Amino acid sequence: MGRLVNNTLYDVIIVGGGPAGLSTAYLCHKQGLSYLVLESGKAVFQGIANTYPEGKLVYASKPKDAPDPFMVAELSPPDKPVTVESYLQYVQHFVQHENLNILTDVLCEDIKDKRDGLSVVTSKGIFQGKKVVLSFGCNIPRELSVYGDAKMVAKNVDDISHYIGIKTLVIGGGNTAADVITNILKAKREVNDTQPVYWAHMAETFDVNKETAQRLGEEILLGGNIRLLPGAMPRIGEVDEEGIDRLVIRINEFKQSDGIDLYHGMSFPMKNVIACIGSQGPVPIFDKLNIQTIACTSGVCKVAKEGERLVLLTKEFESNRKGVYVIGAAISPSFMKINEGSISEEKHPNLIYTAINDAYYVVEAIKKVL
Ligand SMILES: Cc1cc2nc3c(=O)[nH]c(=O)nc-3n(C[C@H](O)[C@H](O)[C@H](O)COP(=O)(O)OP(=O)(O)OC[C@H]3O[C@@H](n4cnc5c(N)ncnc54)[C@H](O)[C@@H]3O)c2cc1C
Repeated sequence: MGRLVNNTLYDVIIVGGGPAGLSTAYLCHKQGLSYLVLESGKAVFQGIANTYPEGKLVYASKPKDAPDPFMVAELSPPDKPVTVESYLQYVQHFVQHENLNILTDVLCEDIKDKRDGLSVVTSKGIFQGKKVVLSFGCNIPRELSVYGDAKMVAKNVDDISHYIGIKTLVIGGGNTAADVITNILKAKREVNDTQPVYWAHMAETFDVNKETAQRLGEEILLGGNIRLLPGAMPRIGEVDEEGIDRLVIRINEFKQSDGIDLYHGMSFPMKNVIACIGSQGPVPIFDKLNIQTIACTSGVCKVAKEGERLVLLTKEFESNRKGVYVIGAAISPSFMKINEGSISEEKHPNLIYTAINDAYYVVEAIKKVL
């Protein structure tokens, strides 16, 4: 199960350093509660950095009928919209100035009950907390479903220089993959690197909007070395005789009458591969953590589509697992609220406002029971 990182039993362990997680951290800090934020990305607000397009304005949107102001004004976007880059820069400064206790590059994988609290199992070992606040947002990167393990494959580009001088494989057929390829081609062009970028997609056609296609087209015309692999399928993760993790993709297949299929494949070191295959909602994580969800039934449920599963929480955002709270985009756009024995549907708009204000109410609730 991994090793204990230290013997500290934090009052609160916070999973995810977005608006919800950082607001929780800041409020704990102000209230004198011990806490630790575990963020899987390279920096805080990685979720926003990964999903907002360059130069996007960030709005301090508030639902029409919401009575409260932003309860952590320090982390709310300014009233006059600013670009995502300047909002991120402001947040970084804020975190440094307040000296918030944050560990980056740590992926939370599981939570175990223990006698005096909870153990949070992560990619960097085990941390212990009396309470855990899950604020991991709603964009959980999809895993490549191949035989063997493909954990070494990157889901986005942290450091573009890593791809200079090597043949790179980008998997995925949409705008994110196209953007990543454009940026790598540009970086390669600037240093006269002629090693190609392979673009693999399961379908026969790529699905990219006009602006993204224009940017990519320009890089190709400026000399970008790109090799298209439509209809290519990631197949196996394996370790070669030199101990290098590799990903094998099938690039075409020939069915023969004798029932034996022939195919061509390519094998890339996993460190050369970026999989831009989108994200999924957090339900698989709730399942893994044994956090209860309820499936919507048509005619009964008004806040979600039939079959959609909504997480079940108390009015203090506590889940069926004692001491484990869930807030922010992870429970948007709706969840089920248990209140004095009855369950009601609760709308929960996916906004920075909601994430910040959830943090306020959850810290108030935790303070009372610690
Ligand atoms: C394109 C776009 C534009 C938007 N524009 C606006 C806007 O203008 N105004 C507005 O109010 N809202 C906007 N939103 C919505 C807003 O960004 C979200 O509501 C808000 O970011 C939710 O905050 P959060 O902290 O709950 O989740 P997130 O911001 O998603 O933060 C979750 C964090 O958890 C980390 N994480 C995930 N899994 C793990 C794990 N297992 N272990 C550790 N860490 C993990 C992630 O890396 C991430 O940093 C926009 C959303 C998108 C996609």
